[in-house]
Amino acid sequence: MNQMSGRKVLVAGGAGFLGSALCERLVLQGNEVTCLDSLLSGRIQNLETIWNTEGFRFVECDVRDGMPEGEFAEIWNLACPASPPLYQIDPVGTLMTNVVGMHAVLERARRCGARVFQASTSEIYGDPDVHPQPESYRGSVSTTGPRACYDEGKRAAEALCFDFHRKYGVEIKVARIFNTYGPRMDAGDGRVVSNFIVSALRGLPLQLYGDGSQTRSFCYRDDLIDGILLLMAARPDFTGPVNLGNPVEFSIRELAELVVELTHSSSPIQYAPLPTDDPRQRKPDISLAKAELGWAPPTPLVEGLKKTIAYFEASLSAGAPIAGSR
Ligand code: NAD
Ligand code: UDP
Repeated sequence: MNQMSGRKVLVAGGAGFLGSALCERLVLQGNEVTCLDSLLSGRIQNLETIWNTEGFRFVECDVRDGMPEGEFAEIWNLACPASPPLYQIDPVGTLMTNVVGMHAVLERARRCGARVFQASTSEIYGDPDVHPQPESYRGSVSTTGPRACYDEGKRAAEALCFDFHRKYGVEIKVARIFNTYGPRMDAGDGRVVSNFIVSALRGLPLQLYGDGSQTRSFCYRDDLIDGILLLMAARPDFTGPVNLGNPVEFSIRELAELVVELTHSSSPIQYAPLPTDDPRQRKPDISLAKAELGWAPPTPLVEGLKKTIAYFEASLSAGAPIAGSR
């Protein structure tokens, strides 16, 4: 799908859930892939399918400490923990990863003429008053709450991308990614899809935060990877930001019921306090992605959940940790 095969590319955050799927696809396309990762939330096991492939190299490094040697045609920046409980453990580190890490990526890109992809987020919109969210919506974000380290970090990273683009002509591609799930999510990272599936498979209660009426729109991993590859290969003057996500919206209660049904679990659903600043609703307007990239995600939630459940069944029987145990 990406026309630019045979390139030297760097993937920061490439050992994570999305980054490892991206590295796999880039290697398959014949690119020379350098994966940089601090292994904060990523794992070497995520890369085992490509670990011994010619042209793949792994560098254990924090993106805040700079870039590995090499001239790259593309730099993909996915380095940042994405799970709210995880990114709040070290909020200063999360914010600095977004700002200092993005700066290091852009400086290197400026020097070697690389095209830059930034994994931005629907959290840019905060707890949105506009629904669904188009890219033109400027968001409703708390600067002082516990999610600010991530939300404001990602907003600052977008600002840095556009400043480097305007001032130095760096080619940028900014994707605002909405909740994405699939195989290789970390069983213990605390996000809702992994928490629910792992709890259901273990016969433990599914914890519904708040009354479960808050909504999210869940995109299957492989659909998202198709979207970001198309974005990176898009015409040079298309910078984004562009929303990438599945526009079919579910309440979190509906998700819990679906997971219980698909896992044939007898787990009860329990209620727990809603975290501070938890967005009430979230659904992408993907008109721009459709028009510019010809992209829309084909995988329905039920189909994607079945694949994800199969992955967790296999990995739990191989000894992965219980949800929330991190
Ligand atoms: P993930 O936690 O699995 O992956 C993040 C990767 O970045 C991990 O491998 C981690 O070890 C690495 N990392 C973190 N801090 C680092 C640092 N300072 N230096 C080097 N490596 C570092 O999360 P993911 O779901 O794969 O998300 C990937 C990217 O996509 C993130 O930037 C995230 O903000 C963004 N995103 C994801 C989603 C989603 O639903 N999955 C939604 C919006 C945006
Ligand atoms: N959530 C939940 N139970 C869990 C984990 C999360 O009810 O075990 C809720 C959470 O409060 C939020 C939604 O599910 O409303 C999505 O949470 P997640 O952490 O996956 O992503 P984000 O809040 O960043 O969209």
